[in-house]
Amino acid sequence: MVREICKDVILLSRKAMEAMADDLPLAQDLLDTLRFHAQECAGMAANMIGENKSIIVFSDNGKDCLMLNPVIVKKTDAYQTEEGCLSLTGKRPCTRYKSIKVQYQNEKLQSRIKSYSGFTAEIIQHEIDHLSGILI
Ligand SMILES: [Zn+2]
Repeated sequence: MVREICKDVILLSRKAMEAMADDLPLAQDLLDTLRFHAQECAGMAANMIGENKSIIVFSDNGKDCLMLNPVIVKKTDAYQTEEGCLSLTGKRPCTRYKSIKVQYQNEKLQSRIKSYSGFTAEIIQHEIDHLSGILI
């Protein structure tokens, strides 16, 4: 189900709680909402649809990916960039890392570690920031 985008900065500033198996329908809503906004948006965190759970979805070179409870365990090569966000207006400066390693659980709640670089890594960093209540 496509959900409405949350633009309430107070709600967006809350730290997300651990996601469990019960939250998988919410993860599906998040994927549906990402697909709906695919033209303008490459990733979403659950708090962007008003749900305070640690779930992100993103497009990895056209493939939709889902992560529960993602944590960046390694990051290298910082750079400065500017990003926009569906929940915010305009573009804002931020620091990102070219390569990251992320630990997360997949849709079967299996623990996984995966490395990303380039634009996909940037999206993941933006969405994981959302889970910590950090806005660009
Ligand atoms: Zn955002």
